[in-house]
Amino acid sequence: MRDPKRIKRILKLIEKIWTKYPDLRLGQLLQNFAGFTRKDNWNVEDDTTESFLKGYVDMLTMQEHFKKTGEFVCFKCKIPFKKLDKHTFQPDCKHYNKDLRLSVG
Ligand SMILES: [Zn+2]
Repeated sequence: MRDPKRIKRILKLIEKIWTKYPDLRLGQLLQNFAGFTRKDNWNVEDDTTESFLKGYVDMLTMQEHFKKTGEFVCFKCKIPFKKLDKHTFQPDCKHYNKDLRLSVG
């Protein structure tokens, strides 16, 4: 059986994201998150989703940093993200799943 305590932990992460962008509808927020994971999340276990949500919170914080400085760097190791095209960046260190993409613009 899945741990019911995960529900509050996961909802807190969603609350953190939604509070940053209160104009988003919940459906938009969840679709944006699905785009961020680049996965069909149907069969993804919640511990993985929880870790992706943590990564999503970090990415949103980095987007805010990007808007101020024009660059993305990993907050943990300071390695810059690879620029894939004008609007898309990819993490290039061990702290993030390399399948993740960060889009701006
Ligand atoms: Zn890093």
